Amino acid sequence: MLIGEEEIRNRVAEISRDVRDQLGELDPIIVCVLKGAFVFVADLVRQLDFPFSVDFLRASSYGNSVVSTGEVKLELDLQQAISNRHVLVVEDIVDTGLTVQYLKANLESRNPASVSVCSLLHKPANNVKLAAVDFCGFEIPNDFVVGYGLDWQGYYRNLPFIAQVHETDT
Ligand code: 5GP
Repeated sequence: MLIGEEEIRNRVAEISRDVRDQLGELDPIIVCVLKGAFVFVADLVRQLDFPFSVDFLRASSYGNSVVSTGEVKLELDLQQAISNRHVLVVEDIVDTGLTVQYLKANLESRNPASVSVCSLLHKPANNVKLAAVDFCGFEIPNDFVVGYGLDWQGYYRNLPFIAQVHETDT
């Protein structure tokens, strides 16, 4: 286990206060980046006490691999227009920064009032794209992690904590 349930809960509460300070008056669209961010977004939005809407998109760079392919695809797009709206993109994890960089550029081309990024986890060691993360939960080592929405080949999203995956010799 890398980050426990209570630690996550406390940090999500702190992030929600920062988000309210920055976006609370701006009727933002909160964009959940599927699939990994769905648990984080569900907890985060229930801590927010101001008007906002939620939309979803799906970006994929990993497929079933544990190593980034270096190529990002938008597999599911937002349902609503974002022009002149404040957008908060919520990610599970920023690794190389490629996904966030792609999503920011894509959304900024639609003339929003602003695009900010919130990520529960950040692996600074791999952050070659120097992605701008406005709200970050935890910086973690450069290991593959699962739980709290993050998967390994589709599994373990239900774990209430974040865990590191270790290869075992069998
Ligand atoms: P990036 O484009 O920043 O390299 O990768 C971002 C995406 O890769 C995340 O949204 C997530 O889906 C996936 N990813 C990166 N690191 C991990 C990890 O340690 N565990 C899991 N489950 N997914 C990861």
